[in-house]
Amino acid sequence: MDWFTVSDNVPEFPKHELLEWYDRNSRDLPWRDSEDPYSIWISEVMLQQTRVDTVIDYYHRFREAFPTIQELADADRQSVLKVWEGLGYYSRARNLQDAARTVAEQFNGEVPDSYKEILSLKGVGPYTAAAVLSIAYNKPYAVVDGNVIRVLTRYFGVKEDIRSQSTKKQIQKLADEILDRNRPGDFNQALMELGATICTPSGPDCRSCPLSAGCTAYRTAATDTIPYKSPAKQSPHHQIGVGLIKDNEDRLLIALRPEDAMLGGLWEFPGGKMRTGESIKQTVKRELKEELGVDVDVLEKFMKLNHTYSHFKITLHAYWCRILPPSPAPTPASSQEIRWVTVPELSQYPFPKANKVLTEKLLRKLEF
Ligand code: SF4
Repeated sequence: MDWFTVSDNVPEFPKHELLEWYDRNSRDLPWRDSEDPYSIWISEVMLQQTRVDTVIDYYHRFREAFPTIQELADADRQSVLKVWEGLGYYSRARNLQDAARTVAEQFNGEVPDSYKEILSLKGVGPYTAAAVLSIAYNKPYAVVDGNVIRVLTRYFGVKEDIRSQSTKKQIQKLADEILDRNRPGDFNQALMELGATICTPSGPDCRSCPLSAGCTAYRTAATDTIPYKSPAKQSPHHQIGVGLIKDNEDRLLIALRPEDAMLGGLWEFPGGKMRTGESIKQTVKRELKEELGVDVDVLEKFMKLNHTYSHFKITLHAYWCRILPPSPAPTPASSQEIRWVTVPELSQYPFPKANKVLTEKLLRKLEF
């Protein structure tokens, strides 16, 4: 299809109908009670890659733990990650806190209301900037997320691959053109809400949709083929071996991941990726030697579990291990810090999901 501008080639986008529908049907979400930019910022960061139902509890807990930007800025990293534990994409939490520190130091504790300034904050990209500025400050910036992409590609009949940068740019352009300048925050939320509740990926409820009269995909029965997304590359699947080491006080050894690594600032049981030609037990042995400088005897398996991250999958194999004499005391080589903790104490530390499953099984199964 040739690209067009709204003003040239398609009927006026039914903004009024969309906003009316939103006024009648918007879900009652906790951050919608507020015009506080900090609350809106937190909710928008949490909502990236995460379903609304999951976010609600986390949002309440986070607001309770860190009621102000200053309190978030002053908090220690571990307590922020602990509240975020289980929500995934932990760089969001680290960036949010770093950005809160910048806001506290450089912007007098106020979330900036200029596009340039808010975009300068760590972790704030065009989506978050537009969402916060439009919803909290009523500024005319259009948001484009997965829901908006679906609604706009269907409405305007955009058949190109939505993975491609040029398609994304064109969709942003369309969103900018149709944005309601009087109520930009509500308009953005209305499009996202419509995508989440009516214009769903499969089986959109077109008969209840305020846009149906002008919608290309509805008119041409193309809702099954629009939007088009080319198949994702197959994600790699890694085998991970980790060691559970106890000391003579029945405490377990855990390691802190480096701040700048994936899942940085979270704790884990030491271990790593299996190499070609290795058995999983050999992986555990090698990883513990590399990470902690100790020789271990790899004993019985404690558990095996699968977990899917955004770009890869893992099967994690956890083994009980015993440090062989005359190994020196373990010292952290690739982690930031190591600690010996009792099983009940494990619940005080933030762990990534797969390790969290391990800690929960340890808590359930073992009596120390
Ligand atoms: S009419 Fe159907 S396909 Fe078109 S925007 Fe509405 S729900 Fe989506």
